[in-house]
Amino acid sequence: MAQAALPKMPRRPLGQTGLEVSVLGFGASPLGGAIDEGEGVAAVKEAFDLGINFFDTSPFYGDTKSETVLGRGLAQLPRDQIVVATKVGRYGSDTFDFSAQRVAASVRESLARLQLGYVDLIQCHDIEFTHLDQIVSETLPALQRLREEGLVRHIGITGLPLKIFQFFGGRAPPGAVDTALSYCHYTLNDRSLAALLPYLQEKQVGIINASVLSMGLLTHQGPPSWHPAPQPLQQAAAAAAVAAAAHGVSLPKLALMECVKEPAIASHLVGFCTRHQVRDNVEAVLQGLGLLASPLRQQEAAALADVRRILEPVQGLTWPSGLPDN
Ligand code: NAD
Repeated sequence: MAQAALPKMPRRPLGQTGLEVSVLGFGASPLGGAIDEGEGVAAVKEAFDLGINFFDTSPFYGDTKSETVLGRGLAQLPRDQIVVATKVGRYGSDTFDFSAQRVAASVRESLARLQLGYVDLIQCHDIEFTHLDQIVSETLPALQRLREEGLVRHIGITGLPLKIFQFFGGRAPPGAVDTALSYCHYTLNDRSLAALLPYLQEKQVGIINASVLSMGLLTHQGPPSWHPAPQPLQQAAAAAAVAAAAHGVSLPKLALMECVKEPAIASHLVGFCTRHQVRDNVEAVLQGLGLLASPLRQQEAAALADVRRILEPVQGLTWPSGLPDN
């Protein structure tokens, strides 16, 4: 049976880049996992057809597999209608190399896997794992040269500890970094990015919120075994999933509906690898923005109240990441 047409997915400006990105972005890390690759490629096309134009990956995801599978999906799409982001510096088996030489080779390797001539955004992947002096003195100048060659259009940084984003206040030369990708800090269980939004806006940085489902914590199937969240957070998330289900409501859907209301955040990245998830998440975003009626509105309100109460004691609980000095 043909599925109902959905309202248009809204787009927001990505800082000062001139790019307009869909409020829901395609997080491609699951494409690097043990998945049905044909379904993953179809999910990329489905996402585009439902209005998602922003795709994010990294050579780290699945030790380059995510870029390869995403590249197969993107080959079906018009290049001038998509915004593609990848990263440098973090690689398989958790190795890090932000040197100028590695970065220059890495971008070319990513372009080959993605089957693209340029990426719209290149990001230094998890800068808390290196000395920030190296990012300023070596990595950013190397990326600037790639920008001049036309291989990348804009430059960003990513990472977990929010204090790395103070980078924009002091160390980063003005205009050298266009975007900030934060993850797991603007979700139902952790809203700590909210306090930083006015500062990042003042610096005119494009803000990307990744891992809206806290890397799988806020799902009914639960997080992967490697998930670094402390036990009390894992237990509360599992209890929240049970509470949402008791109202007949999906916890991932509640999480998405709540996050997308913040207009200062250009795009929210969720990890997808099936067409079904794409459609569910697109609908959740449209419902969260009031563009699509939700048949379960009352149940969702009741479930949200329960979930908030369960997550309150672990609100903002996080885990360490990176070098101790950063
Ligand atoms: P996420 O919070 O988006 O959770 C993804 C998990 O949720 C996957 O297991 C997926 O199968 C599942 N899921 C998605 N939609 C669902 C639905 N409707 N119902 C049930 N389960 C659903 O975590 P993520 O994938 O880690 O983050 C999203 C993206 O953000 C990544 O793919 C990546 O592109 C980006 N990201 C970047 C960084 C960084 O740069 N340091 C860090 C984290 C995430």
